[in-house]
Amino acid sequence: MLARRPQVLCLSGLDPTGGAGIQADIEALAAAGAHALPLITALTAQDSDNVRQVQAVDADWLAMQYDVLQADCRIDAVKIGLLGSTAQIAVLAPRLAELGVPIVCDPVLRAGGGAELSSVALHTALRQHLLPQVTVLTPNAAEARRLVPDAADLAACAAALLGDGCAHVLITGGDEPEAEVCNRWYQPQAAVQDYRWPRLAETFHGAGCTLAAAIAGRLARGLPVAAALEQAQEWTQRCLQQAYAVGRGRRIPNRHRL
Ligand code: PLP
Repeated sequence: MLARRPQVLCLSGLDPTGGAGIQADIEALAAAGAHALPLITALTAQDSDNVRQVQAVDADWLAMQYDVLQADCRIDAVKIGLLGSTAQIAVLAPRLAELGVPIVCDPVLRAGGGAELSSVALHTALRQHLLPQVTVLTPNAAEARRLVPDAADLAACAAALLGDGCAHVLITGGDEPEAEVCNRWYQPQAAVQDYRWPRLAETFHGAGCTLAAAIAGRLARGLPVAAALEQAQEWTQRCLQQAYAVGRGRRIPNRHRL
């Protein structure tokens, strides 16, 4: 038994199916040998197909929960998922800036089933106030295009997001039409690196949350970014290969006993 586990603060929504959101974080972090410190940003009503309603947690409440937790518990890394409001970003940004630990941000803008989970104001606040603190941003291709709507292509999206101040961008290609899934790692002054994965026959619920939390757990353990990205993708691919059904919609990653 480890006397001390790396601890990852998770800022995520609650998905009652257990496929995405905070449950994905907790399970992926446990599998990575890390402990999750869960702060819920929003409650959701959803099934395995799509999100129906989102109820954001009050920003002052979130700030109070953060302050109480942070006064006691060491935070080795942060994973950010669904954000409920621009007011949440306003209270979180200065606090995270003070922490000085790796931050992985998975910008959850729209559900895989199509439900809208964000606004243009939220995109703007995320870019202006959170990205300067972010170590690894993990948008899928559609999210990268939405965050930088005037960009000519994905490389231009990544350049703009790096320009906002995040250190690394991993644009995932699960939502793109190519025969293989190509995830692309962009960082300033370095060649772009492609990771190619066999495209599995179906689409999944919670894949993005799982990957981002798997990266955060490895950064919390002290792995360099390159190793964290590589290992987390490889592990997530195995979770997807063994996905299971919890309802009638998309299957969820199997994050257990891999
Ligand atoms: N609900 C919550 C709380 C989430 O964090 C996410 C995605 O990250 C979703 C729903 C949507 O997940 P997906 O797009 O994989 O279906």
